[in-house]
Amino acid sequence: MSGRLPGVAERAAALDAADPLAWCRAEFVEGEPPVRAYLDGNSLGRPLRATAARLQELVVGAWGTRLIRSWDEQWMQLPLELGDHLGRVCLGAAPGQVFVGDSTTVLLYKLLRAAVADAMERGRPQLVLDTENFPTNRYVAEGVAAETGAELVWLSPDPARGVELEHLREHLGERTGVVLVSHVAYKSSWRADLAEITAAAREHGALVLWDLCHSAGVLPVDLDAADVDLAVGCSYKFLNAGPGGPAFGYVATRLQQRLSQPVQGWMGHAEPFVMGPGYRPAEGVRRFISGTPPVLAMAGLADTVELVDRVGLEAVTTKALALGAFVVEVVDEHLAGLGVGVASPRDPGRRGAHVTLTHPDARELCRRLWEVDVVPDFREPDVVRLGLAPLSTSYAEVATALEEIARLLD
Ligand SMILES: *Cc1c(COP(=O)(O)O)cnc(C)c1O
Repeated sequence: MSGRLPGVAERAAALDAADPLAWCRAEFVEGEPPVRAYLDGNSLGRPLRATAARLQELVVGAWGTRLIRSWDEQWMQLPLELGDHLGRVCLGAAPGQVFVGDSTTVLLYKLLRAAVADAMERGRPQLVLDTENFPTNRYVAEGVAAETGAELVWLSPDPARGVELEHLREHLGERTGVVLVSHVAYKSSWRADLAEITAAAREHGALVLWDLCHSAGVLPVDLDAADVDLAVGCSYKFLNAGPGGPAFGYVATRLQQRLSQPVQGWMGHAEPFVMGPGYRPAEGVRRFISGTPPVLAMAGLADTVELVDRVGLEAVTTKALALGAFVVEVVDEHLAGLGVGVASPRDPGRRGAHVTLTHPDARELCRRLWEVDVVPDFREPDVVRLGLAPLSTSYAEVATALEEIARLLD
């Protein structure tokens, strides 16, 4: 280590030595040559070594040997069984409410469309969402509004923060039908208050759809306890399912019979193998599945849920926030003088598992960091995001990235 930032490497070494999750790093595939610092696990998590073995077994065993019989033997149930496990370990969801399938964009469409149709029938045509939400969420909402005649109500939060209860309240009324919020804002890392926002929307007779892409597998998400209606999330960020890993959806038991999703496919039918005329939705959460689920792409998700189950989500969250605190501390101490700002909440209770830095030359800085094998990501216009996936990221790696940022800016 260059030691450009006095004491930082030493502090990182001490934190790594005391880290109860340090052993988890060896569970992940080590690249050849190894990357110096990977800080983008919030966009694409690293693969677990167990996943290479699981894929091998899938190809040779369940697919190569059992062939089509595997659908009956395990795959028909897989989206629901894996959903239940994910729900228990990461989402605070009782069985029968979580399923895996589709991409986040498609699943978001299905659940949002179902919620808006239900709300419109109840004379509540407004869909409330915020301008800082991830592009896909805004675009899907625009499409659903065009299709249904729903009215979009835009919240414009402070970009350095996110959706706040008091601000949201000003936009809730008797015409509010659905509220769409991301639990953790993809840019600022602001963590919205899931329980309070859900309760406020409920008070107004609206349904809430939470996007958990940046919190699933890393932060506590107590869906049942907060009485959440609907949620979707991604499996390839902190849940390490890999590129193209499917989304997951949550539909509270009390809503499953009431809502109709728009992509009525044979796999959500009450009797898929009868193949009869007319769609008849399955009982329970299966009705939200449309077609054949991506079995191979679920392997990494299964392995990450098993690992989180082993170590406990609480330990994962604790380390995520400690890594974030380390970043904030070092930036304040050493990088503020070089024009680097912290654009994420400083309060760990309001922050997700990435820390957003700002610098006027962020784009060029990020490009040069990638050249030296230090990998965060850039977001328009002046943002570098440091993703802190706690199972696979060391404090030393974070220190290396911050040293490189200091060197390049100097
Ligand atoms: C990553 C992310 C998505 C991604 O959607 P895909 O369909 O998987 O491309 C959607 N919403 C949010 C909030 C995200 O962070």
